[in-house]
Amino acid sequence: MDGSLNVSGEGFFQTLVSQSSFAFQVLSRTGRISYGNPAAQILLGYDSAGLSGIKFLSLVHPDDRRIAWSATAGNKNPDGFTEIRLLHTSGHWIWVRGTASLSGESTDSGSIFLNYQDITDLKNSSAILAEQHEQLQIRAAELAESNTELERFAFMSSHDLQEPLRMVTGFLTLLKKKYSDKLDADAQQYIGFAVEGAERMRSLIAHLLEYSRLGKNKDDLNLVDLNIVCLEATALFREQIEISGAEIEAGHLPVVKGKKTQLQQVFQNLISNALKYRSADPPKIKISCSEVNSQWRFEFRDNGIGIDPQFHERIFQIFQRLHSKSQYSGTGIGLAICKKIIEQHGGRIWVESAPEKGSAFIFTMTKA
Ligand code: ADP
Repeated sequence: MDGSLNVSGEGFFQTLVSQSSFAFQVLSRTGRISYGNPAAQILLGYDSAGLSGIKFLSLVHPDDRRIAWSATAGNKNPDGFTEIRLLHTSGHWIWVRGTASLSGESTDSGSIFLNYQDITDLKNSSAILAEQHEQLQIRAAELAESNTELERFAFMSSHDLQEPLRMVTGFLTLLKKKYSDKLDADAQQYIGFAVEGAERMRSLIAHLLEYSRLGKNKDDLNLVDLNIVCLEATALFREQIEISGAEIEAGHLPVVKGKKTQLQQVFQNLISNALKYRSADPPKIKISCSEVNSQWRFEFRDNGIGIDPQFHERIFQIFQRLHSKSQYSGTGIGLAICKKIIEQHGGRIWVESAPEKGSAFIFTMTKA
């Protein structure tokens, strides 16, 4: 044996075709099936003689006849393959993908050779995927709609609540002013509590309004130099920095495309928190930026009280606080505002921290 393979004999090709898992068929120029290999018979549910003489187009789904006819006439698709549905003897349709080629020059003599394979499973799974994709898109649109609805509700209610609240505060103040000499100490204290409560409510409503307005802000995006934003934000806390002996170290920051006032708010909130949630040591705040996966990654690191990992998600929700207002002042909106602003700028914000180990607030932004 010399190891070479004789591929020229007719027997070789017959064996090849009859054993192939691809369906092979030969059609006469009038389109009748003159030969179908075992794979073609099995695929369409026929026995060995059953396919002969059948008009191929009669097996093709009515909607696919035009492309099947065109392919068997020698008109190739750009990628050379054609996808059509063929009728199985049990009455269901099978998706096949294959090619047709013509033998001989004359249109009347010669044959048409078809070879194809079953792609029904592939088609079904891509149909399922397409349906799931469509469902997801519908769901996303519904969520966006309900989100807008909620924001509109938050805006309207916080806006409308301001007026009655102003009345409550106004009349309480009047009551205190006019009747304080007629009221005993208890009554005076109750009025004090009521005024305090109303004041807190005013602050919550104002913050809610500010939060819901963020989505409505249609300011244009501009190039914003964050070195300036950082300097301006730091300047706001000059007094606090001096009193606490805080050190703020800022590395070189980039110019980004964004809304300046909103980015200022993010810097202010993060610096303010780093100063507020300090440990016994003087606050040390390090602001830096690096490039990761073609995005900017900003880090605000402090040496403060730190945050237990179980609260890392919660602190970004609106009005969620980990301390009472007697421990630390605040309403719990600062980080929710930061999150909304960063997400509107196409980024993400999170915290890395542990109790007594300081915190690092990290956010990303796309490069300008
Ligand atoms: P507020 O400061 O008004 O409570 P925030 O939304 O800014 O609202 O913060 C939410 C909570 O996250 C805070 O109550 C605090 O418990 C925690 N937190 C925020 N920043 C820090 C920080 N730098 N170090 C430790 N805890 C922090």
